[in-house]
Amino acid sequence: MIRTALSSMSINQRFGIQVAVVFVPVLVLSCWLLSHAWSAYLRADEARDSFQSFRLALIAMEKVSAERGPTNGVLGEDLPIPAERAAALQRARHESDVQVARLADSLRGDHCSRCSGELSVVNALQTDLAAARANVDQLARLPRAQRGDGALQDAVTRMIAIIPEFMPLVTATTARVVKGDANALNCLIVGRLTADLREQAGQLGSRFTSALAVRRPLTEDELLGIERTRGRIDQLRAMIDARTVTLAASDPQALAAMNDQYFGAGLRYVATVRALALQPGGAGISTAQFAQHYVPTMRAIIGFRDSVAALAEREIRKNHQDALLLLVGTGLAEAALLAVLIWMIAGFRRHVIGPFVQATHIIDAIARDDLATEIPEVSARKEISGMFDAMRVLRNNSAERLRLERDRLHLIAELATMAQTDPLTRLSNRRAFESQARTLIEDANEAGMQIALVMFDIDHFKRINDTHGHTVGDDALRLVADLCRASWRQSDVVARIGGEEFAVLVRVQTASHAFDLAERLRRLIADARVPIGADMSCSITASFGIAFSAASDEFDVVALLKRADRMLYEAKQAGRNCVMVDTGDALDGQLSCS
Ligand code: GH3
Ligand code: MG
Ligand code: MG
Repeated sequence: MIRTALSSMSINQRFGIQVAVVFVPVLVLSCWLLSHAWSAYLRADEARDSFQSFRLALIAMEKVSAERGPTNGVLGEDLPIPAERAAALQRARHESDVQVARLADSLRGDHCSRCSGELSVVNALQTDLAAARANVDQLARLPRAQRGDGALQDAVTRMIAIIPEFMPLVTATTARVVKGDANALNCLIVGRLTADLREQAGQLGSRFTSALAVRRPLTEDELLGIERTRGRIDQLRAMIDARTVTLAASDPQALAAMNDQYFGAGLRYVATVRALALQPGGAGISTAQFAQHYVPTMRAIIGFRDSVAALAEREIRKNHQDALLLLVGTGLAEAALLAVLIWMIAGFRRHVIGPFVQATHIIDAIARDDLATEIPEVSARKEISGMFDAMRVLRNNSAERLRLERDRLHLIAELATMAQTDPLTRLSNRRAFESQARTLIEDANEAGMQIALVMFDIDHFKRINDTHGHTVGDDALRLVADLCRASWRQSDVVARIGGEEFAVLVRVQTASHAFDLAERLRRLIADARVPIGADMSCSITASFGIAFSAASDEFDVVALLKRADRMLYEAKQAGRNCVMVDTGDALDGQLSCS
């Protein structure tokens, strides 16, 4: 069925289908590749934006963590709170607020369209932070002696509890970054571990706050908490070390600084204070002094975190550029491929299919002898121009064949005319007369009409030849032929049937009608003058014999010729220049002679 449908199609339609069969899959594949590159680019773009939120979350987390230092400083002081302590806390809170606000901003609709959930996490976090701060402020307004141990612990715990609220944000942004750039995963994990380390380092310091503030030894619970936090810090260090084999190579100084300053000096100082704080009167170090020594060592953690973040940012930027390059490259390559494909198809159609279809029409026209069809001048392709050249030869050969055919038909017609025409008078000859007469007689027989055969012979013609020459004789014959043509109707059969003998087969009403017609011609001949040169002329006469046939008679041409010839003989006998009629009834011929 498909094969039948295909075979009935034109080559143009078939070529169109074949082009579609190739072109459509190529187009679909191109669109698929382009959409793939486009979505990779969108993911890389989203990864870049999400990384900013990730980094802001880590920084905000660090600032909220860092806020606990000045908070502890204020809570460790008695009333009135020294101005520099209060100012340090305000600065820290301001820094936290700025960072949390920047984080919230990066998650708003104009930067991230799918971050409304995370934005509400930030809003909740801001509310919790404000409540924790209010709690701290309330406690700080009391004299130090009235700030109960439990209340202080609670204030610190509530501040610490803000930090885990950042984790859903870190997790969500990490997932979006990794979706767009899987290579950034290691950096993000190390960044997160480092942020956690900074938090745990902060918490380690906070564990000393209550004991240092009220100048008492560390309790069993506090010692347990310190050991637990130390354990967590060691665990984080091991996890970071395991993942920094490649990262350290990019910025070994940041890692070395963290190892020296925090894991070295920082933790040594913590161990010293812990040992001192076991004594009955406490460590004898204020919270502010502790913070002054301990907090700066944590900056190396932030330094390392920032170097890891910078490394991740470089990777994400490169990934973004690669995705853009891939998108543009794919788009351009596909556009070029499709353009070349279209160009090739159009070229094939224009240079091969088009001329082929045109050639088919031309050959078809030549086969139908329609040689007016234009054959184009094609110069582009040797084979195609060769084909059209061959067609031109074919058309010329056909034109020549047609011309020869026309000439042959013309010659045949001429020969046929010559075979039936007397060359001297251009009248029909005897053979044509007999054939035409036979047809006329048959028609007359069928229609029941009367006809008459008029035969006439120029009188003493031999004498004219002998006297004036053969040329004058010929002129006399042509003159008589002209008079015949003028006298008889187109439908009558007029012929020169012998040397100077003529015959006319004519439809008439009666025998006397035939006689009148013959008599009229006889007079015209007798009155005519045949020029014989030098303004001289001679006259001629002719004798007429008529055979008339009534409608009831069955007649044929031979019989009529015989009867007319007999009447002509009678006319000659009667003295020439007269008309004798055989009416068919009897031999009572009618005679008219001048
Ligand atoms: P009659 O009155 O008895 O008919 O006498 P006639 O001389 O006409 O008859 P005859 O048969 O003796 O002569 C006919 C002549 O017609 C003889 C011939 O030379 C001449 N003739 C026949 N055909 C042609 C022709 O084509 N041209 C010329 N010039 N003469 C012709
Ligand atoms: Mg004769
Ligand atoms: Mg004669």
